[in-house]
Amino acid sequence: MSPPRIAKETEPHGEMKFSKTVLNTLWMAYQPFAGKIISVFILGLLGRILLLGNANVIGLWVDSLCTAPQICKAVPQFLQGWTSQDFILTLLGMGLTGFAFTLSFRVLFSRLSAKSISTFYDEVTLRTSRFPMSFFDQTPTGRIITRFSSDYGNVFRLFGGPLAEFLSIIFDLASMLLLITLASPYYLISVGLIVILNWLVFRANRDKLRSSRRALSSSRSPSIAHFAETTQGASIIRSFHRESVFQNRFNALDSYFLDQKMSTIKNIISFSFQMNALSALLLLVTGTMAHFMIKNGALSVGSIGVAFSFIVLSGNTIQMFFEWLSQFEEALIGVERLDKYLRAPLEPGNLLPSTATFKTQHSFASPEIEKLRESPLTLSRSAPVEVNDLWFRYSPSGPWVLKNLNFEIKPGEKIGVVGRTGSGKSSLVQALFYLYPIERGSIKIGGFFPTLEKDGVGVELTRYRNLISYISQDPILFQGSLRANLDMDLKATDPEIWQALDKVGLKAWLKSLGQNLEFRIEERGKNLSLGEKQLLCMARALLRKAPVVVMDEATSSVDPQSEDILVKATEEFFIDRTQIIIAHRLSTLKKCHRILWLNKGEIKKFGPTSEILPEFESQSLLDLT
Ligand code: ATP
Ligand code: MG
Repeated sequence: MSPPRIAKETEPHGEMKFSKTVLNTLWMAYQPFAGKIISVFILGLLGRILLLGNANVIGLWVDSLCTAPQICKAVPQFLQGWTSQDFILTLLGMGLTGFAFTLSFRVLFSRLSAKSISTFYDEVTLRTSRFPMSFFDQTPTGRIITRFSSDYGNVFRLFGGPLAEFLSIIFDLASMLLLITLASPYYLISVGLIVILNWLVFRANRDKLRSSRRALSSSRSPSIAHFAETTQGASIIRSFHRESVFQNRFNALDSYFLDQKMSTIKNIISFSFQMNALSALLLLVTGTMAHFMIKNGALSVGSIGVAFSFIVLSGNTIQMFFEWLSQFEEALIGVERLDKYLRAPLEPGNLLPSTATFKTQHSFASPEIEKLRESPLTLSRSAPVEVNDLWFRYSPSGPWVLKNLNFEIKPGEKIGVVGRTGSGKSSLVQALFYLYPIERGSIKIGGFFPTLEKDGVGVELTRYRNLISYISQDPILFQGSLRANLDMDLKATDPEIWQALDKVGLKAWLKSLGQNLEFRIEERGKNLSLGEKQLLCMARALLRKAPVVVMDEATSSVDPQSEDILVKATEEFFIDRTQIIIAHRLSTLKKCHRILWLNKGEIKKFGPTSEILPEFESQSLLDLT
């Protein structure tokens, strides 16, 4: 079935080699635990040698009992005189110790491996949260969620547990080689042959397995994205009775995923079948060879017994090794996909915290820079905003959204921004925060601008952004306590937070709910009304104490009484700050000193409120007729 119309992943599916960076990433994840891992490896290897060595002891036991010298080998000097009881006790001791070592290896290694892999996850998250905004504009949400859910799930599931199993298999192979060599080196030729044949089967299947697994991984994200969209828009879907349309898209995406899954399963089964057939063939050959070797007196019965049981075992183990190897490729595909996020460029000027441990090409904040962040750039209560020759757009190939803006706002001035929808008002805020690269022109707040290039001039981006308090068009709240949502800089005291709530008129509301600052805000603030969310965002802005306050359409969803609070905020709470107020309700802007009128990304007028506001109003009315 052809895929439904979905945003395809950009990674080439045909590329079959894992990049060097994937190995480097795994090295960075495991290296801090290297000492412990080596000790645990030694334990694991010893465990397997002890367990598998049982076969050698049995071989010696058989030879010690043997009464036909023509087909037996004399046991070493130190074993002569050993009774069957001695052999049984030795076998028991080896078995128990080997078992304890193997078990300890699995538990300890799985823990270390889970820790290492979760460090990798943390490091990827550190970087993803610092990606340029354009990344979030262009990447479907489902794809990002898949990276952090199913891709990481695959990686964690295999590296946090079965990797120990896989390593045990490798230890088995190493121990077998050693023990077979001790028992009868001729059989190394057979083992070599088994390895080569299994490798050939593995190689013949590898590319098909890899590409179907890659296609499977990337076919999951569109249905996850569709799920997220459907749950968010559930009320609209119901009110427009569009359930069937969404269901059909689900079905299409799901059956596409199912097709990919089936093709992957088919490839895995075919691979497994080829491996099994090869093992059966090898057993037949080995058995026949053993028969003739005993008959010709080439080897002793004891050593042939040991070698034969190892050949059978090693055949199975080698087969398991290659089957596991192919499973690990799936986990490695997950590592590879997360690795792309680990190494993608960050937003210009954004620095990784000094606690980040993976040394990637990114710039890191030094502890000194982090310390500096705690002190504000300026202690003045307001700051000027200078916009010079600003050209702004959302992507290097997109249309200019703001064109050649030039203006200056004085400290403490209150500016209203008006313009028709799409005229660029919110984009001006994005530019103020340097959320997208400013290709031409500049913005300075209090004379400060952010350093966007390595070792460039300017102040650190985080410190620059701290100059602005922002109440956005969509009031954004996060899952967590009310306190965590309000005091995002983690600097305010309880009385300060209560005071801010009181100012926006929500103290009584919170008390009437019988709640305190630990009041739990649900995901995206869905247990609050839009107006309540906006007032909370206002309280958050109050707590920030930044010299410039930006409000974007903050009055759109509050009742007249609450709107009074917002107007009061602009007139009282933020009176000594520089204010930039974007509003459609012109009543909010009456007390502004000046009005900036934007039209299609350009400044149409910038002047005193008494002059510009009536003109804009009459123009809007004209547009309506
Ligand atoms: P409104 O009054 O409706 O809020 P606005 O004046 O705030 O409108 P903006 O949001 O600044 O308008 O949008 C200006 C232009 O930029 C619009 O043409 C819009 O399509 C475009 N735009 C906004 N955000 C993005 C984005 N993330 N990526 C690409 N283009 C965008
Ligand atoms: Mg807007």
